[in-house]
Amino acid sequence: MTDQPARPLYPQATSVAEFAQNIADVRANIAAAAERSGRDASGIRLLAVSKTVPEERLRLAIEAGATDLGENKVQEAKRKAENLADLDLRWSVIGHLQTNKAKDVVSFADEFQALDSIRLADALDKRLQAAGRSLDVFVQVNTSAEEQKSGIDPADALAFLEELKHRDSLHVQGLMTLALFTSDTERVRECFRILRDVRDRARERDLVGPGELSMGMSGDYQAAIEEGSTVVRVGQKIFGSRASIA
Ligand SMILES: *Cc1c(COP(=O)(O)O)cnc(C)c1O
Repeated sequence: MTDQPARPLYPQATSVAEFAQNIADVRANIAAAAERSGRDASGIRLLAVSKTVPEERLRLAIEAGATDLGENKVQEAKRKAENLADLDLRWSVIGHLQTNKAKDVVSFADEFQALDSIRLADALDKRLQAAGRSLDVFVQVNTSAEEQKSGIDPADALAFLEELKHRDSLHVQGLMTLALFTSDTERVRECFRILRDVRDRARERDLVGPGELSMGMSGDYQAAIEEGSTVVRVGQKIFGSRASIA
């Protein structure tokens, strides 16, 4: 693609004070974006995306107030959850999951945001039933029509949600998407609007629980909030640039 934005350089936070400053900055931006769109910032959850961040640094961020954590790889997330079990944290798995890893998610996660197939829903449901627990889930929708991205096609989302009604251990909280990675903000916003539109139609049929919208990352969370986001997933802006997209 020719219109990809230059990857911005986010400074690495290495102390509790630096993490506290980054988190305060993000929260201030969330509040400003909420205000611009006539919304209450208390309705917007900040998920700190800690993928690739080693546990020693993660502890500093946690001390600075990041307790709602997002990870995209289940193995890494599970290891961190186990090693940081002394702290009061909430773990959200936000990346694509293979069916054979369902049991790992069930063992530690509080939330799963990338539900994108009935096979996976069944695998999770089976493991959850066996463990005697439920799981909050978001259905990932592919709003950018890019083939390499996971997610249900927006046109199939209502039928998919309808199917999920029969999996009692899965508590649908809403929808999640990754917008197009482009400097063309209008096209980014179009992805967010597609997700909101699917949510609105699903709500009319009572298919989407509270109807949360998980959308917005370091580069686009303010636009996402203006388009209705209720959960923003912010990594690099809090922790610093990652070496790779990971
Ligand atoms: C990495 C990731 C994010 C956060 O991206 P940043 O650029 O670090 O803010 C959000 N959502 C998903 C699904 C991710 O994998």
